[in-house]
Amino acid sequence: MKKDFGQNFLIDENIAKKEINYANISKDDIVLEIGPGYGILTFLLAEKAKKVIAVEIDKKLSDYLKEKLPSNVIIINNDILKLDFNKLPKFNKIVSNLPFQISSPITFKILEYNFSSAILMYQKEFAERMIANKGSKNYSRLSVGVYYKSHCKILDFVSKNCFKPKPKVDSCIVRLMPRKKSPFSLKDEKFFYDFTKLLFNHRRKKIKTTLSSIYDISTIKHEYLEKRVEELTPEQIGELSNMFFDKIDR
Ligand code: SAH
Repeated sequence: MKKDFGQNFLIDENIAKKEINYANISKDDIVLEIGPGYGILTFLLAEKAKKVIAVEIDKKLSDYLKEKLPSNVIIINNDILKLDFNKLPKFNKIVSNLPFQISSPITFKILEYNFSSAILMYQKEFAERMIANKGSKNYSRLSVGVYYKSHCKILDFVSKNCFKPKPKVDSCIVRLMPRKKSPFSLKDEKFFYDFTKLLFNHRRKKIKTTLSSIYDISTIKHEYLEKRVEELTPEQIGELSNMFFDKIDR
């Protein structure tokens, strides 16, 4: 096992079939698969989809798959995080048992792309952070970013015993569907993401304490400044970020 590639292979075919059912694949679909491994999902996808684009970082696995898979599968031997999605053939769905160590960057990357739906396997704790609401200990910058960009739902729990080598924790099958319209409007998305990250880096501090170490906020009065970020909804964090985007010299 190459540890840094996060290789935990699914060994339960019924789980794979379940995921494919959730993804509701038809012959019109072009599917991106991240980290096909030995292809437990890829073979099933190839049967149902028009085309599958499978990106695998491990050369040995990608060579193995190139031998075995039918011609409607394109195998790309590369790091998914380094690929420009707009340079791939256009895809409308994503299905993946994700390499868990890249869960966060790949989720943010996916959410920048315009697709119809994704069925993704994540570690349970991560999935719980994705859907957490304000006030929960799992509420994080991930929850806020996922909420802003998508509808996210946990569809199923999957035991760690379904993988080999067996990971330390259980997993979840998650559906992500990009929102057609943002739930609130932002003056600047990048500023909002950075602002949210900054606040959650100090989640137990009052927001005014965090911000005053960076900005001069002596003239700004707002009730949210007296709170902690974990007490604010994504909408309220958005409101505050819009206010700071206007008021602060950059
Ligand atoms: N889908 C397979 C494998 C899951 S393990 C299954 O369900 O059995 C995760 C897979 O992602 C491994 O094959 C690993 O080599 C691959 N991988 C890890 N990091 C990657 C990256 N950055 N880009 C593309 N593939 C990656």
